Amino acid sequence: MAIKSFHPPQRVLMGPGPSDVSPRVLEALSRPTIGHLDPVFITMMDEMKTLLKFAFQTENELTMPVSAPGSAGMETCFVNLVEPGDKVIVCQNGVFGGRMKENVERCGGIAVMVQDEWGRAIDPQKLEDALKANPDARIVAFVHAETSTGAQSDAKALVEIAHKYDCLTIVDAITSLGGTPLNVDQWNIDAVYSGTQKCLSCTPGLSPVSFNPRAQEKIRNRKTKVQSWFMDLNLVMGYWGGATKRAYHHTAPINALYGLHEALVILQEEGLQNAWARHHKNHLALRAGLEAMGLNFMVPEAECLPQLNAIIVPDGVDEAAVRSLLLSEHKLEIGAGLGAMAGKVWRIGLMGHSSSPSNVRLCLNALDDVLVRLKAPIRHGVGVEAANRLLAS
Ligand SMILES: *Cc1c(COP(=O)(O)O)cnc(C)c1O
Repeated sequence: MAIKSFHPPQRVLMGPGPSDVSPRVLEALSRPTIGHLDPVFITMMDEMKTLLKFAFQTENELTMPVSAPGSAGMETCFVNLVEPGDKVIVCQNGVFGGRMKENVERCGGIAVMVQDEWGRAIDPQKLEDALKANPDARIVAFVHAETSTGAQSDAKALVEIAHKYDCLTIVDAITSLGGTPLNVDQWNIDAVYSGTQKCLSCTPGLSPVSFNPRAQEKIRNRKTKVQSWFMDLNLVMGYWGGATKRAYHHTAPINALYGLHEALVILQEEGLQNAWARHHKNHLALRAGLEAMGLNFMVPEAECLPQLNAIIVPDGVDEAAVRSLLLSEHKLEIGAGLGAMAGKVWRIGLMGHSSSPSNVRLCLNALDDVLVRLKAPIRHGVGVEAANRLLAS
């Protein structure tokens, strides 16, 4: 039997990413493919840089999307900035900090881990202590928005401490970009990477990155070649660079870039501050609804990421059965716990296009229905009303 075309079902994506992609982005993806050196395409690339600089709040010339998912943006930062023998302090408070360690070691660097409790922000004092104990450290790396737990760290404070000890900073802003305040220049972040499928509500597979002049200088003065040919920024810049003639490096994912361009235009139309405020308001409404039902958040409110809500699974409830019923009966996807949090929490994303009052209500109604059906100990029929009180204000 011949295999037929693939038609995915319609879902509501409220997990840790991907989030729902705007119909405008889906339409942009289907526009005609043109050559990656076509002058019209080059103009689009220049606009893309301008839009990314706006989203990151930076004037960094070296700002562009890496042609691969967020993990490749992460790797781009590490392979370019870490040389063999470099000591890197990695603050870890969840799954993604562990991946940073892997990256450092694969670049021949020495990772010094500073551990924090999962579900809490990174403690700036612990970073300062580690820097005092390791005066030869060259780089500090941390995750701004830990998607595995829903905790947000004070990036500005951490970068300030790192600079006091003359270290460069690498910041994972995959889940924060577009969803919660991120000011790359104001906070003096040296290297930052993000993803497209979280709060930008674009399809997965691209990773915006940005490097300030200090980071660029470190890359230019490397004693060794960057181990990865594909991610060597000295070469990539030949294609994405501003003034010089564009040279072929790799074939850009042309249509995917149309999608990101559109997603960034949408963000620009809404305004960054408005997008951050929308994420925060919908988070508060979801929180009010869930707490009225008797469910608890893992992260204290002051450290909570508005776009990723980790909810403690009540005792005796089969967490996988809940997710499975939400998907089959309500077409709603939420996330499971990751790493040490597996089986202990659900992760409800309110990212980008998915962060809306109607999705807050839909999620509360669906959870109420499924949890009552599974005889979980919750208060029935009170979630949406509690959320509505916040949404009306
Ligand atoms: C999603 C995510 C990643 C990985 O991004 P991919 O696009 O899946 O490679 C890395 N770090 C954080 C904090 C994330 O949320």
